Amino acid sequence: MIANRQTAALAVSLSEVLGIDVQATEWMRDALCAQTDPEAFYPDEYGSVEPAKAVCAECPVLAECRAYALETGQRFGVWGGLSARERQQIRTAATTVDRLVA
Ligand code: SF4
Repeated sequence: MIANRQTAALAVSLSEVLGIDVQATEWMRDALCAQTDPEAFYPDEYGSVEPAKAVCAECPVLAECRAYALETGQRFGVWGGLSARERQQIRTAATTVDRLVA
């Protein structure tokens, strides 16, 4: 029973945990990437995501951006300091947890 409660707690969405309204997009005004090279956030298959992640690490709206990207299913580019592959791994893990508690 306790294990189920702990697992269910993991299934709570990131936006709920952080108290973020993903429908509100005012945070985008403070996006640090808007002041940098946008192509760094969408590298080709041989490009590195590290330059974009370095920008994200300094961004004042990283949490809002990450929650937005995860909950709106952004499939491409670096968002909230996470690559597309990392976001997919998180979504897959969250889906697995949801199935376990259903
Ligand atoms: S966290 Fe990264 S992708 Fe998101 S707004 Fe900030 S700089 Fe842009």
